[in-house]
Amino acid sequence: MHTGPISQKLFATAKTMIPGGVNSPVRAFRNVGGEPFFVRRAKGSRITDVDGKTYIDYIGSWGPNILGHAPAVITNTIHEVAKDGVSFGIPNPYEVEMARTITDWVPSVEKVRMCNSGTEATMSAIRLARGFTKRDLIVKFDGCYHGHSDSLLVAAGSGALTHGEPDSAGVPKDFAQNTIVLPYNDAEALTALFEEKGELIAAIIVESYPANAGFVLPQPGYLDHLTSITRKFGALLIFDEVMTGFRLGKAGVQGLENLTPDLSCFGKVIGGGLPVGAFGGRADVMDMLAPDGPVYQAGTLSGNPLAMAAGLAQLKELNKPSGYARLDQLGLHFETGLRALMTEKGIPHRLNRVGSMFCLYFIDEEIRNVTDVLKQDFEIFNKFFWACLDKGIYLAPSPYETGFISLAHTEADLDDTLSVFSDALSTI
Ligand code: PMP
Repeated sequence: MHTGPISQKLFATAKTMIPGGVNSPVRAFRNVGGEPFFVRRAKGSRITDVDGKTYIDYIGSWGPNILGHAPAVITNTIHEVAKDGVSFGIPNPYEVEMARTITDWVPSVEKVRMCNSGTEATMSAIRLARGFTKRDLIVKFDGCYHGHSDSLLVAAGSGALTHGEPDSAGVPKDFAQNTIVLPYNDAEALTALFEEKGELIAAIIVESYPANAGFVLPQPGYLDHLTSITRKFGALLIFDEVMTGFRLGKAGVQGLENLTPDLSCFGKVIGGGLPVGAFGGRADVMDMLAPDGPVYQAGTLSGNPLAMAAGLAQLKELNKPSGYARLDQLGLHFETGLRALMTEKGIPHRLNRVGSMFCLYFIDEEIRNVTDVLKQDFEIFNKFFWACLDKGIYLAPSPYETGFISLAHTEADLDDTLSVFSDALSTI
């Protein structure tokens, strides 16, 4: 649907050799009932597909490309660093500089270890929390995505306090039973759970601002409650800031909310578009990792010079006055225009935005958790998505995703986008 002939041909061929034609499911555009376009190149705020059509992009490779696509500071860095070798499996100085930057910027992180994806970061943080506390149970929240390791691929059962059911075939029930799923923003359910099982719980893992069910924000005091209840019962609090870390400011959500989780997980922005992940936090917990401690964790390509140098180049740009403050300015410009447009059109909606992250919901009700998200009108989203894509605006092909603005976007890009939105909303 709506893609050019070269994309269609590539997708048909891909499907014969790659499951679903894609190497990550959401890229298949199934949620919006269509087929993906294939990318020829991307530069700044724009992506050009193999059929020659150009789009203003609001995904930025799902978060990493916060400076826009292929910024010279990153491509030049990669080019230069690669000349001296792309991976050694032996320590290199960029790893030390990356660790220094992360520990300087994020006060809760005293020590940090690099890995290659957000999935590895959260999986390792969970193992570490279990090893440190010598407890097995973990708590996650409905609608929060933490990558695809077995313990974390669990969504809610029918009751808030029931044991988890696997959300994916292939996850043994025994694993899933150690993951308890609660609704996000429900402090009472959390208190009840800890009063019953607190001494058995190793950790709470939470997307501090959940960005995998659209973009859900915590109710006042909710994140403080997570901190105090874990402290009270000797469990660890793990902030998954794979999406929000180094995007919503130098110290992510924990910086904005002035919170101190025990462990944090990162990825995306810190790799400058190359595969990366990291987890870090309290030194006494991190020191449980091999080779100093008994919790094993490793990676052939972890800390490779290309990802480290690309990430450092990106962080350096963000640290300039033209970094986070400019992203906030662009975000506000977009939000103001979009609110005015939706009101003018009289379309029921909620718009959540912090800095350069946003989600427009086609429902006018409070969005506290995934149950609320599921109430929105998906048919309208679908029509809106395709109408925008037709006119050269690329939004996430799913109503459960967050939109990202980059430093390469201009006010003119945002205004052009709003005018496409206006046309799209008139046709649906
Ligand atoms: N945590 C969060 C909050 C994420 O958004 C994602 C991926 N979007 C992950 C973990 C997993 O990261 P990766 O895809 O790099 O494994």
